[in-house]
Amino acid sequence: MTADMILISQEAAQLIKTSGLWGHLSLRISEPDALAGVISVSEQQKVMRPAALEPRNHVLRCAGTGSGVWYRVGPELHGAALLVSVRSSGLTLEGFRGHVPSGFKTPGAMAYYALTYAPGVHDPPYNEGQIPELMAWHVSADGAWPISTQVEPQTLGLSQFAPSWPVAELSESTVMLVGGGSIGGAAAHALALYGVGNLLLVDPDRLGWHNLVRHVTSSRHVGRYKVDALADELAQIRSETRTEALRLDVVVDADRIRPLLRRTHVVLCAADGIAPRRVVSHLARRAGIDTVLACVLQDGAFGEILRLRPWADRGCLVCERETLATAGGMDIEPSLDAGYGTGTRHRPMTAVGGDLHLVGQLAAKVAVATVLERRGQADQRLPGEHTVWALRPQPGAAPPFDLSRSGELRWSPAHPPRPGCPTCQAP
Ligand SMILES: [Zn+2]
Repeated sequence: MTADMILISQEAAQLIKTSGLWGHLSLRISEPDALAGVISVSEQQKVMRPAALEPRNHVLRCAGTGSGVWYRVGPELHGAALLVSVRSSGLTLEGFRGHVPSGFKTPGAMAYYALTYAPGVHDPPYNEGQIPELMAWHVSADGAWPISTQVEPQTLGLSQFAPSWPVAELSESTVMLVGGGSIGGAAAHALALYGVGNLLLVDPDRLGWHNLVRHVTSSRHVGRYKVDALADELAQIRSETRTEALRLDVVVDADRIRPLLRRTHVVLCAADGIAPRRVVSHLARRAGIDTVLACVLQDGAFGEILRLRPWADRGCLVCERETLATAGGMDIEPSLDAGYGTGTRHRPMTAVGGDLHLVGQLAAKVAVATVLERRGQADQRLPGEHTVWALRPQPGAAPPFDLSRSGELRWSPAHPPRPGCPTCQAP
């Protein structure tokens, strides 16, 4: 098998573009992946200059080695290459050689890879089509066959979304994520994908084998603190998000959470249990910070996201729950003290990872919309403050949980504080 794609780093592309008419290439070639990558480039017979692929653990870093040649050519060769590649065909060796008169290496019994650089493709009449400047070839005595290339773009990362997405506003925003479990882990990844610049990860627990069936992370992190595992993974795959891994319990360590809230724009709480949710609701309200609480209810039958605003006409978590219970709704909070995997013999099916990740991602969307709405982005206003999402609907559930179809989403407004609430009353 031979490589049917060649990766070219931006550094390698620049070396080829700024050198003369031809030169040598060294390559890494992975036979199982049918993939090659340029790792160094020379100008004619001069010394090879490194232009390695990033990251350092790229699949090609420890692949086999190979060599090749690059040529500067006229744009007509690349035009011809597009025509023959449409027919899954190649050029005769003589035809190919005719386009590269300087320093052509004739393949003997050994085929080789070549790159061709055609700076003229941006000039008329070639600029009409989508002809690339750099192309790759497999050159043998039988002819030259175009193969795919991927050239590393000059711009990588979130800045590509600007100005159609508020990249700058989000990169300077801080979200405190309480809970690094299944919902929290999915939320962490989604927050980074949205471009949140700073994540404070708060969770006192370690990752167990039993967590893996629902968690975003892999078995290589078993036994580590969940916040450390998440921080390491985000550093690898979403390096534009800065993380702080805090092995804190919001209930026990409330005094250490309070100062962190001063540099937090929104709290996303994905922790299990009544106590952490109530403490987050209380601390964030007193700090004047918006809070998003995410959970699943009834063994994973519903996803729920509740946004609390620290405003005079909006209640805290306890006020919202009491209002719901008074209206005849179910008493939700006690079911939150049961872990996702602790269903009874009669209800053995508890929440599955995919459903928990959906809730985590929607919670991340709500948190990001909350930050952006505060920053004047009117298109990020939400339809309400409380949403219930049917994952496995339950017949006969009380409003607002009386949803009949999986995937149904219902938004409701917030309610005012209840008289005498110790959280909502001005201190
Ligand atoms: Zn209250």
